[in-house]
Formats: sequence, C-alpha cells, structure tokens
Amino acid sequence: MSETKKIAIIGSGPAGLTAAIYTSRADIETDIFMGIQPGGQLTTTTEIENFPGFVDGINGPDLMENMQKQAQRFGSNILYETVKSIKFDADKKEYFITADGGERKYDGVIIASGAKAKYLGLEGEEKWVGKGYHSCATCDGFFYRDKNLIVVGGGDSAMEESNFLTKFAKKVYLVNRTDKFRASKIMLKRAQDNPKIEFLTNSSITGFYGGEDEKVNAVDLKNNLSNETSKMEIDGVFVAIGHIPNSEFVKGMLSMDEAGYLIPTNRTMSEIEGIFIAGDIEDKIYRQAITAAGDGCRAAMDLEKWLESLN
Ligand code: NDP
Repeated sequence: MSETKKIAIIGSGPAGLTAAIYTSRADIETDIFMGIQPGGQLTTTTEIENFPGFVDGINGPDLMENMQKQAQRFGSNILYETVKSIKFDADKKEYFITADGGERKYDGVIIASGAKAKYLGLEGEEKWVGKGYHSCATCDGFFYRDKNLIVVGGGDSAMEESNFLTKFAKKVYLVNRTDKFRASKIMLKRAQDNPKIEFLTNSSITGFYGGEDEKVNAVDLKNNLSNETSKMEIDGVFVAIGHIPNSEFVKGMLSMDEAGYLIPTNRTMSEIEGIFIAGDIEDKIYRQAITAAGDGCRAAMDLEKWLESLN
C-alpha cells in the first residue's frame, strides 16, 4: 500500500469544491483554502436557473454550501485562509503553500482561485466602494429599498443584477457604454420588459459625488456620442462589467495571458508538474458554474492519475 497523499486545493467555488469531492472520495487527503470569498462568486448570485438537476433553480449560497458539505462528507479539510505564494521542489515533487496560517507541504496542488469583480477604474473610486458603489447586488441590494440605482454593464451579469435590484429599488438605470449588448437575448429581453428598468446607452460614469454621510449621492454621466457630461442624482451604483482572475500569487511562476488568466499545458496540468488548474482562473469564455465544476472534476482526475503514475 502506498502512503496517503496530501493535496491542496486553492479556491472554494464550484471548481475547487468539485475537485475536493473527487480527490477526497479517491482517499487523497485534501485541504481546501477557502480564500477571501468562501464559496466564490456564486455566493453573490441570486437564483441559478441553469445548473442541471435543480428544476426550479437554486440560490447561489445554497448551492455552494451544499458543495462544501459534500466535500466535507468525504473528509475534505476546510481552511479559512488565503494563499500568498507557492514554492516547489521539482525533483522531490513537494509543494509548499504559504497562507495566513503559515507554510504547509503537499504532494500536489489544484489552483481554482477564480476571478473577482472589476470596478470602473476611475481615479479615487476606492473611496466609494461599499458606500454607494457596489459590485454585488445580492449582498447590498437590500439596503436600497425604494431608492434609485444605476447598474453599469451590458452583459448577462448587468441584466441579472438590474432585474434583481428592482425587487427593492424604485428605479434602476442600466448604463451601458455602447448600444451593443453582450447579454443573451433572453436576459436582455427580461430587463427590457421590466417597467422599473430604464436603459441609458452610449453612456459612462466619469465621476462620483457624495453627501455629508460620505455615500454616493450623484454621478457624472457622459454621453459617449456627444461627449456631453451631466450630473445625475442617484442613491447607489452597482457595477457588473466583468472580472479579473485571482492569479497574482503565481505571477512569474506560471504562464498567464495578458489579463492574468492561467494557461494549462498538459490537459489540466500547468507547466509545473503536480500543479493543476481549474475553473474561472483559466476560463474566460464559458465562466459558468457547471463548466467550472466540470473543470474541477477533470483536474482532480488528472491529479489522481498523476499521483498514481509516481508510484
Ligand atoms: P461580460 O464580459 O459578458 O460583459 C461585460 C460588460 O461590461 C460588457 O457590456 C462590457 O462592455 C462592459 N464593460 C466592461 N468594462 C467596462 C468598463 N470599464 N466600463 C463600462 N462598461 C464596461 O461579463 P458578465 O459578467 O456580464 O458575464 C460573464 C459571463 O457570465 C458571460 O458568459 C455570461 O453569459 C455569464 N453569466 C450568466 C448568467 C446566467 O446565466 N444566469 C448570469 C451572469 C453572467 P463592452 O461590450 O463595451 O466591452
């Protein structure tokens, strides 16, 4: 009998937790580093209607809680820590992960650290984050009952967030920088048919104003066709304009594209033997819960086979 192998999974979204279900069931000792957003991006989503098996949909936090419990049922160990760096000894096939709790040694690693929401990039915008400037309608929408809101973006996220926010808000202005939408037809139509949503196309926010309570109370809105800017009073702004991959901690160590998405070289394995990649950290095309879960499964099976090949 070979000794029990111990691996680390970095990330706790659908990719990481699915990988953990597979590795734990294969009797591989598994630590899951939960990261700064345990459960990943789906914990900031409302209803998920397209994850197979849930006829009436399931909400994001519930789905992720179920996945975590399922991984724990097979013995996965949950670490509420964020990974800072990875070192490795290529000859010995040893991997050293430094996180909040110090350094630990593993026999293999799956990186499933996902991506985080993008903000507009305006000078000084950090000041307003959480103070009328948000990236998560599920988390913060509740605070805007009977208020007027802006949602920025033209993709499915923007449509979903706008619709969700109309549950609370008096009115939602959907601000898109062009008149082209990346959203799927069905989600765009749902937003267009919602009487509480007004579309402001060819428009961009170029500045924030705040009240005495230091919360956003107005924005500068630029018309991108005429270049005219006008001040618009608003109670809150939600951005839904895409994501940035969480790959900083392996910069210079693993190949990544210009945006920071990791690039697997041999199926799910990176160019460093024993380090595997799964989910939104490498996928900028599909980015679905189900594809991330599928990636996690593939990485776990590849890792298991690779460990066996070393014996
Ligand atoms: P997308 O990349 O699809 O859309 C991003 C949007 O933000 C685009 O309209 C883009 O405009 C705009 N944008 C980007 N940067 C800026 C900026 N600096 N200022 C203003 N606007 C900006 O991202 P999403 O997050 O919407 O969707 C990602 C993926 O997740 C998609 O595949 C989507 O289908 C999926 N998804 C599915 C859902 C579901 O099925 N329930 C729900 C949510 C997302 P431009 O086009 O001009 O670049």
